[in-house]
Amino acid sequence: MELAAFAERARAIEAESADTDVRERVTDLLGAAGADLPVVARYVQGRVFPAHDSTKLDIGPALCYEAIAKAAGRNVTVDDVEERVADVGDVGEVASGYDFGGQRGLAAFGAGAGAGGETGGDGSGAGGTGGLTVAEVDDELRDLAATEGSGSRDTKRDILFGLFNRTGDDEARYLARLVLSEMRIGVGDGAVRDAIADAFDVPVDEVERALQVTNDHGEVAVVARDEGLDGLESLGLEVGRPVGAMLAQAGTVTEALDDWEAAAVEWKFDGARVQVHHDPDGIGDGGEGPRTRLFSRNMEDVTDPLPEVVEFVEGALDTPAILDGEVVAVADDGSPLPFQEVLRRFRRKHDVAKAREDTSVEFRAFDCLHADGDDLLDDPLTERHDRLESALGEAGAAALSALTVSDDPDEIAAIEAEALDAGHEGIMLKNPGSAYTPGRRGKQWLKRKPDVETLDLVVTGAEWGEGRRAELLGTFEISARTDDGFAPLGKVATGITDEELEDLTDLLEPHVLSEDGADVDVDPAVVFEVGYEEIQASPTYAAGYALRFPRFLGVRDDIDPDDTDSLERVERLAERQ
Ligand code: AMP
Repeated sequence: MELAAFAERARAIEAESADTDVRERVTDLLGAAGADLPVVARYVQGRVFPAHDSTKLDIGPALCYEAIAKAAGRNVTVDDVEERVADVGDVGEVASGYDFGGQRGLAAFGAGAGAGGETGGDGSGAGGTGGLTVAEVDDELRDLAATEGSGSRDTKRDILFGLFNRTGDDEARYLARLVLSEMRIGVGDGAVRDAIADAFDVPVDEVERALQVTNDHGEVAVVARDEGLDGLESLGLEVGRPVGAMLAQAGTVTEALDDWEAAAVEWKFDGARVQVHHDPDGIGDGGEGPRTRLFSRNMEDVTDPLPEVVEFVEGALDTPAILDGEVVAVADDGSPLPFQEVLRRFRRKHDVAKAREDTSVEFRAFDCLHADGDDLLDDPLTERHDRLESALGEAGAAALSALTVSDDPDEIAAIEAEALDAGHEGIMLKNPGSAYTPGRRGKQWLKRKPDVETLDLVVTGAEWGEGRRAELLGTFEISARTDDGFAPLGKVATGITDEELEDLTDLLEPHVLSEDGADVDVDPAVVFEVGYEEIQASPTYAAGYALRFPRFLGVRDDIDPDDTDSLERVERLAERQ
């Protein structure tokens, strides 16, 4: 496909405002792309390389303006271009305003030189139109991205100049926008997905799945066209090609236990996400590639900055695998350091050995997407976790994130307390039966919201424990202050150690007013600081509110019962939730 034809269609797409019209035009474009389909499927959404490919053009505005100025002729300076872009706000508009193509002589040092052969000018005053095809642009841009070392900046500028020099106005408009990642014609991932389905008559869900596992719109479009549904279904994960990380939403234990029978609970590590790809025989290139590659959450290759993770993985795994996890920075005593330390390591390109001496990092694995030839995305979380455990084996056991399936809020609170004690961020709650959905922020993974503001509440009742704890008060009714007394909001039994129960019993016994079986009525004298997950409207309690999952945080012996939190404050907090 000629770049001019692509540009004409891009212009028509940009002019549409309704999603359905955009989709129709993209569908037509894909249908007309022929051999250039993979490139066109990417360019139309402003991508030069597939999403999984971290290759970068590394073209900044300055370099692009230089190339434009050069192609525009002797009278145009970089400053002119820059000023016009500042004025107009769109490099495409500015590029399309120049008359390119008169710089044949100069093009001799540009990589695009000679390829077109024709002289510029097509009678329309648009210049360019050197018969440039989308495939040629792709070749040139790949060469450009591969340039490195001293002099690479000039080479890049010259390649770009060579391309601009062969463009007419619309071609220049979209070439400039493409190379600066400013395509902005209103075509996102969703539109391309839908257009692939429409153009090649395949189910959109299957296109979506194929895109999730390959992260390559070009490949998916070609397979949909040439091999149909069967071809799409056969696309799977590939060791060495990253997929989007499954993401979490904020949520509560209440939500997790309401929605699922039980929650899979894990520590939430405060680090940076890393996807590990490993093949003991070498990744890709017929086994010529490295054995391990690491990718960040946005699919950047972070293998080189994290050699100790590579060493760990190579010592632990002996079959091909794709693992999901977190890299954490650790202090000398093994306690976690703030995640900024990890990010510093991620960015480090030089002197990695020195950086490694300053801050060491460790890998924590919590999911397994592929193990020994099996794609596991559709398997339930708990099964994937089993596969993770066996893939890591004994050698890698230290990295395995412990997972507990529980329907007991007390047990979950205890895991959270452990996580916080160990210096981590809190916990993740996951649906034990859920599949792995790459790149999605679904409701299957919840990061527990940090505690809302705590309340200082008065103990107005208690219950004697059972069995071993029969001599101790075990459950405490907590109440908020009202104008004429105290209104109960719930009972706390969670977050209290045996030792604390003894102290609390001693503290409360002098205030016992009456007893009825296990139930004890106490004088409002002792104040608890109480954490909770949420304040609920409640028909059971006279106050009209109840605390969900209240937790004992401590005795506030510095606060008088008359200075505790009022029901009015509870109401205000409830409204703010
Ligand atoms: P946030 O970055 O606050 O949206 O929280 C989600 C992030 O927590 C994930 O993307 C992971 O990088 C990180 N994380 C830490 N521990 C876990 C875990 N056990 N399971 C899943 N994600 C985790």
